[in-house]
Amino acid sequence: MAQQDNTGTFDAIVVGAGFGGLYALHKLRGAGLTVRVFEAGSDVGGTWFWNRYPGARCDVDSVAYSYSFDENLQQEWNWPERFSTQADILAYQNHVAERFDLRKDIRFNTRVTSATFDEGTGTWTVGTDDGKTYKSKFCVMATGNLSLPRVPDFKGLESFKGRWFHTGQWPHEPVDFTGRRVGVIGTGSSGIQAIPIIAEQASQLYVFQRTANFSLAAQNHALDEEMRKKQKAGYSQLREEAQGTPFGIGGHPPPTKSALDDTPEAREAMYEKNWKMGGSVRFLYSYTDLLTNKAANDTAADFVRKKIRETVKDPKTAELLCPNTHPIGAKRLCLDTNYYQTYNLPHVKLVDVRANPIVEITPKGVKTTDADYEVDDIVFATGYDAITGALRDIDIRGRDGLALKEKWSHGPRTYLGLMTVGFPNFFILTGPGSPSVKSNMVVANEQHVNLVLAHIENLRKTGNDIVEPVPQAEDEWVEHVNQVANSTLYPTAESWYLGSNIPGKPRVFMPYVGGFHKYREKCEQIVAEGFRGFKTSRAQETAKN
Ligand code: FAD
Ligand code: NAP
Repeated sequence: MAQQDNTGTFDAIVVGAGFGGLYALHKLRGAGLTVRVFEAGSDVGGTWFWNRYPGARCDVDSVAYSYSFDENLQQEWNWPERFSTQADILAYQNHVAERFDLRKDIRFNTRVTSATFDEGTGTWTVGTDDGKTYKSKFCVMATGNLSLPRVPDFKGLESFKGRWFHTGQWPHEPVDFTGRRVGVIGTGSSGIQAIPIIAEQASQLYVFQRTANFSLAAQNHALDEEMRKKQKAGYSQLREEAQGTPFGIGGHPPPTKSALDDTPEAREAMYEKNWKMGGSVRFLYSYTDLLTNKAANDTAADFVRKKIRETVKDPKTAELLCPNTHPIGAKRLCLDTNYYQTYNLPHVKLVDVRANPIVEITPKGVKTTDADYEVDDIVFATGYDAITGALRDIDIRGRDGLALKEKWSHGPRTYLGLMTVGFPNFFILTGPGSPSVKSNMVVANEQHVNLVLAHIENLRKTGNDIVEPVPQAEDEWVEHVNQVANSTLYPTAESWYLGSNIPGKPRVFMPYVGGFHKYREKCEQIVAEGFRGFKTSRAQETAKN
């Protein structure tokens, strides 16, 4: 393998220093490769570096939403809460960076702007926004699925005289909303977490809702020493179980029957029990068919709508908060602490921008088709150009100068969500066509990094330099991903999984929803069958092909 030198040549370049990039660096370096990581932010953390908005926390239990690769790491780290805050998750990522001495190989404040494959040498040339270029044999894109924030193109935003923020680009200093009139646009997971906390400070809060979302009470709580001891003692079992579940999260007994095979009373009891346990997996795992059968799904959706009506005192507001555009779980199911209760506060007003859309931002606030809302601050909780956005933002060129965005102009095409034909030695962590955002993303990143390493070790063993998928394998995988998605309720919802939140983005269901466990088994089988669907070659042969 190449020696690291001052001219900027590495065995592997990793883009991004979130959960995926950090583990990739640790693992690849451990295998003897020279590695350079580039990160646009000024420190490690990815999602948890950028999302410092009030209320930001994970929606998968922290014991599960953490690395499993090092037993000592998981035994020594103490999670303070069941669903830890952004600050605690970031502290954990900082601990990981220090513990494994990762920062020395990361260049912060450096955005990768291009990556070009050279057929002659079989190497990638990676360009950064400071005008430098670097060479590497492998590119590992750990650029994240939710890392390109999107503010809709509202007319007049530049004229707004107050402060405005996007949840995914939150300032590092705390933002004080005390005594201020605030408008929050967006009621996805980010808005639903931020709204109750902002309401505690603001003198007036307008929530601009276009689509009501399903949200479950998180039932978050502090973890005491006793609970942590028990969790740590059961860690290996929890991790093992996670590998065999659709969401990559252990600790949930699998469902055994259809929702329609229970009586209404038994169903109610089941939903109530799982509501009280908290967490979305437990609830969606109440029955086998909540994500595949609309009639079964309706029973769970009705249960949550009943909870909303019981909680929100004003019947008109309650009705507006009851989702009626999509099956429960077909968009990311939100978890909240006091979200619906917030609407009982006299200074909080829900504005229906489906009925009366926002027409522009004025110097004084938000104008809808029927009213003007004067505010001092606007919080955009308007989401991301998800899954493919961060990759499309880079000028990536494979064989024959083919641009990745050109190849994906009708939607992403990958083999296993890990590689794409025409882009040799180019790995995408948790890419489109893998379980990614439909699973515990720390586990998904670990699994993908391990797969990248398996490929690299196979090249070493066989004396080859280049690995890439074959077109037939990619075609079949894309077909399979679509078939699986179409056998579920997911594509029936307008969501960022489909790209429908970005004007002009191709409408293709991007994640693999066959389950993390089935996906992992398929990957293992493919490796066992000699990396079926991938071909390897030497760099000189690449030049001839
Ligand atoms: P990221 O954490 O997104 O890291 C990607 C990094 O790449 C970023 O730091 C970015 O700056 C950098 N980057 C991108 N492009 C470039 C470039 N061109 N040059 C240089 N650097 C670049 N998932 C769960 O499973 N459970 C949860 O509870 C959960 N909660 C979430 C909460 C929020 C608020 C959000 C937004 C997402 C959440 N997710 C959750 C999804 C989350 O994104 C993943 O869990 C995980 O953090 C992703 O890690 P990653 O390393 O793949 O990507
Ligand atoms: P999101 O789910 O895409 O929600 C964006 C919100 O903004 C939606 O309510 C959307 O309405 C609204 N919106 C967008 N454009 C608008 C416009 N022009 N006018 C009015 N409303 C507009 O984004 P997010 O909340 O940031 O969440 C993204 C993902 O990150 C989540 O799905 C989840 O995977 C992850 N996340 C997780 C957590 C957690 O609990 N751990 C927290 C935050 C984020 P429409 O629905 O009508 O488009």
